[in-house]
Amino acid sequence: MTDANRPSLAMADFHKMSVEVLSGVGRAKARALASVEVESVLDLLTYYPRRYIDRTNQAAISDLEDGVEAMVMARVDSVFSKNLRGSRSMVAVGVSDQTGRLRLVFFNQPWRDRQLSQGQEVVVFGKLDRYRGQHQMTNPIVDLVGDETGRIVPVYPQSGKAGIQTREIRRWVDEALRRSEQRGISDPVPEYLRQRHHLIGRHQAIDGVHRPETMDVQYTARNRLVFDELLRLQLKLIMRKRAVERAAVGICHDAGGELVDRFTNSLGFPLTSAQRRVIGEVAADMARSVPMHRLLQGDVGAGKTVVAVAAMLTAVQGGHQGALMAPTEVLATQHYLGVASLLGGLDVSAPESLMAERPLRVALLTNQTTGAERTQTQHSLASGAIDIVIGTHALIQEGVEFNSLGMVVVDEQHRFGVEQRAALRAKGSQAASPDVLVMTATPIPRTAAMTVYGDLDVSTLDEMPPGRTPIATRWAQTAVEEAEVWEMVRAEVANGRQAYVVCPLIEESDTIEARSVTETYERLQAEELAGLRIGLLHGQLTPAEKESVMALFRSGAIDVLVATTVIEVGVDVPNATVMVIVDADRFGIAQLHQLRGRVGRGDQESMCCLLASDAVGVAAERLRALVATTDGFELAEADLELRGEGTILGERQKGRNDLQLASLRRDRDWVVWARQAAGEMLDDDPDLQRHAELRAEVELLLVDDDADYLMKS
Ligand code: ADP
Ligand code: MG
Repeated sequence: MTDANRPSLAMADFHKMSVEVLSGVGRAKARALASVEVESVLDLLTYYPRRYIDRTNQAAISDLEDGVEAMVMARVDSVFSKNLRGSRSMVAVGVSDQTGRLRLVFFNQPWRDRQLSQGQEVVVFGKLDRYRGQHQMTNPIVDLVGDETGRIVPVYPQSGKAGIQTREIRRWVDEALRRSEQRGISDPVPEYLRQRHHLIGRHQAIDGVHRPETMDVQYTARNRLVFDELLRLQLKLIMRKRAVERAAVGICHDAGGELVDRFTNSLGFPLTSAQRRVIGEVAADMARSVPMHRLLQGDVGAGKTVVAVAAMLTAVQGGHQGALMAPTEVLATQHYLGVASLLGGLDVSAPESLMAERPLRVALLTNQTTGAERTQTQHSLASGAIDIVIGTHALIQEGVEFNSLGMVVVDEQHRFGVEQRAALRAKGSQAASPDVLVMTATPIPRTAAMTVYGDLDVSTLDEMPPGRTPIATRWAQTAVEEAEVWEMVRAEVANGRQAYVVCPLIEESDTIEARSVTETYERLQAEELAGLRIGLLHGQLTPAEKESVMALFRSGAIDVLVATTVIEVGVDVPNATVMVIVDADRFGIAQLHQLRGRVGRGDQESMCCLLASDAVGVAAERLRALVATTDGFELAEADLELRGEGTILGERQKGRNDLQLASLRRDRDWVVWARQAAGEMLDDDPDLQRHAELRAEVELLLVDDDADYLMKS
């Protein structure tokens, strides 16, 4: 029953209430709760159960089947603990119900000895196995349940460890909900949206997620709260995108001009239809007065550089300049060579072939550009004598000024933060912001893109240029298979081809990583690949050393390049036909896919060999996915399935944030619906003035840093 005289409770009201208002929460408990970041009643209500124990649906011990996971409720009969060799330990616990007995075995969990005692009621979840003919469960999940029987029991994260029991949290949540019953919890989501998506009320949802009567109730409650979380996030992202668009004045480029046409006609190949479409999308954005802020997704080798050059030339033909920023020295140089070769067909030395007045000028600017050359380049950028500049972070350093920067391309966005994008954008004139195109070769699923890049428009190159030779991928698991791989490398080299051997990133330090790759290099040189010309590339080399090794490899003076992941992105040597990845189980899917994309760039059949002798579980799944497909988008989906969204959202996921329940993997449809709903609401009410409570919630629950973090990860 709601009290008509008092307004219902908003999230902000719960935020103002300390957990100490709840009975049984004193100083000590408040401190324990704070350690799991629960300080207000709002925090408590959004501290959702990690899972549920369906006490309405439990097996009897006699019903358990070998190898099948199940849950039983039982009583503890005996507890026996024992030290094993080394510092290992074992606790064996005998439990029983009316139908039989069961042994639980815990390895290296000595605290179970203290947790469990004779006579206790426990719920045990695990897989039945057999040891010397006897039934047992090894390392099962155990819940101490006390007297709650015959209902669905929520289990809260961290409980026990932080000095709070799941049972206590349940009691406090009960109390908070009971106390809000009089006034009710308000629901700021518009009625039409609730109807469209068959959403239950918020009060009911919060209640249902903490105290579901059935798992169906839990499901509808969860959906409602997932929608709320995603709606708030999308409102935030779209509001920010529109605010930027309103505030910034861009350049109305003259799209579709002659220079771009001449460029595309001069290429030795027809554009793919995806390239044509995306060049069109970019041109349309560039023609608008609002600065472009677009993400270009395209698999390795899809031809993003052509799109980038077309965009920069669109700026150049109107008298502006284009800049392309790459994350590393090697990549910047590679891009410089690539762009120069794409523009080669334009005959930049003949002025009349390009621009009426003078030839097109393309320059490279990195920290290797020093002395007089640097002074000259900076001078020419400031005067406008350079049309296109390609470089590293050096481009955003002090002292680099542009005459009129009109188009900024940022390659491999995952290596750059928002600040760096902003810094480059700020190199434009005071009056107008340049357009920004962010390129990434690490495709992420569409719904994840809506969340991670929610303030960018997205273009996708979803088509490969024709005539690519497919890359065959094999996973070498045994010593014999590995020996075959090295044999094949020798055979390819004998045929005039080249190979990469990539060693894994070693987290601890660059020095250790360099040592490990150096060891592999020395071993291969002495043994498996003796007699071949082998080069070594790792992060400890100076940029000049790196560039000289790359130059030797490009020219064919080196047969095999042994490297760390410094070659991960952008290296383009068409004569290389073999990619061998050492300890492949230590790489993620996206990285393996990137590395594989280094071969198959010429007209020769190429091969990727994954060396991993003892990959199991998820690591093995990853390798199998790589063997099964070369499609980056399929792999992105597989990746999301395998690792969950944790790593897509980055560190943020581990900490506190507003996406408590929503899962980008599980709730794909909700992401799309929430984005659509947020867009509609903001079309109608741009500042959410008529949805003040929802706006307050967005501000309360999504601090700016959170959303920024999403942008960066
Ligand atoms: P990405 O940056 O997307 O990985 P690149 O732009 O480096 O790919 O292009 C890879 C290779 O494909 C380059 O050698 C490029 O010249 C070539 N290429 C690009 N577009 C086409 C096309 N439409 N037809 C044939 N080859 C193309
Ligand atoms: Mg590229």
